[in-house]
Amino acid sequence: MTQSELDLRSAKHAAYRSGVRALQPGHNLRTSVGIARDYQRRPSSAHHLGNMDDSCSGCGAAHFRDEKATPGRTQYMMCCAKNTVELPLFEPFPETLRSLYLNQDDDSKSFRKFIRNYNNALPMASMTADIVTPQGFGPYCFRVHGQVYHTIGGLQPRDGDPPQCAQVLIMDTNEAAQELCGRDANRVVESTFRTLHNMLNDSNPYVRAFRLMAQVADEESRNAQEQGRTSRPVRMVFEQNNADDHRRYNFATANEVAIVYVGDEESILGDRFLVIHEQTGNLKFISQLDKLCDPLTYTLLFPSGGHGWHPEMERTEYASPRRARVTQKQYYSFVLSTRDRQFNPLHYAGKLLQQFIVDSWLKIEMNRLNFIRQNQHQLRLDTVQGLQLI
Ligand SMILES: [Zn+2]
Repeated sequence: MTQSELDLRSAKHAAYRSGVRALQPGHNLRTSVGIARDYQRRPSSAHHLGNMDDSCSGCGAAHFRDEKATPGRTQYMMCCAKNTVELPLFEPFPETLRSLYLNQDDDSKSFRKFIRNYNNALPMASMTADIVTPQGFGPYCFRVHGQVYHTIGGLQPRDGDPPQCAQVLIMDTNEAAQELCGRDANRVVESTFRTLHNMLNDSNPYVRAFRLMAQVADEESRNAQEQGRTSRPVRMVFEQNNADDHRRYNFATANEVAIVYVGDEESILGDRFLVIHEQTGNLKFISQLDKLCDPLTYTLLFPSGGHGWHPEMERTEYASPRRARVTQKQYYSFVLSTRDRQFNPLHYAGKLLQQFIVDSWLKIEMNRLNFIRQNQHQLRLDTVQGLQLI
């Protein structure tokens, strides 16, 4: 075999491995590979995926035709795992916030430009990461190093500390605007901040739960003063389905998403659920598996509350019990898909979308690593069984 034949053979092999399959007949493969070494001789013909106008018959998500897992089918794997994942998303969505995402007036454009500042000013939980912005020119890029943490504080700030997270949301709107808009780091427009603060107080059940806790804490403080005793601790537990539990305690007040307990019973549930204390020196970590992690962190993407992914999320139909649950990756794929006739704030959220995607991917990776760490015995056993078969 001559040298030129050898070159052509290796070029074909490299093209096959890199997925370049749309070359025209007669096209010189030698100009199509080794792009990194010889970028000035890139081929003029490009692979054309066609329009993104094929919709999944299961969930209505828009796709390129070549994304189909099975050519004859009308359902796609990427969006809804062939119609086995069905989730209610972004409904109801407050009209005031929808306008800020869609309109072209100056306030709306400014909102979208500084959307991470607005979300950071009005969360109930915060995301902590080592954010390292790439140097030089180019489009905005959200990049983190190391691990990501999600934390939540108490109902009241510690003495001397500025209010943050939910502590801002339960403040009076005027006070909150004065407090937040005066900080140097915040580039938020005061009128837009007021609109969002009011909107979240009206539409978000978790903000209402924090307000309920604040009322109960005030009442307990007043009663203690009148009766000449010290105040009993006030705690809030986020959980919807524990109606039986809250009847067991004498001093419990419930709303649609949480129960507020007054007293110091050690048996009050709390290990499995997210518990908010009245005043705490330390921030509390939120588990990556908690269904409240996303709604509490991204209040401007989930303004009506709801739940994010959790390990018990079920598919609509499944082949075996082992595949009955929606995986974290399937959930985020479903959420990020584009669908006609369904408003998706993520697609208008710019820099906040980038943060959400990075955060979501890191959660998926951490979950996978945790699975490997916690199932070492089973994984070793599988490897040994594989060796025996060989
Ligand atoms: Zn689908």
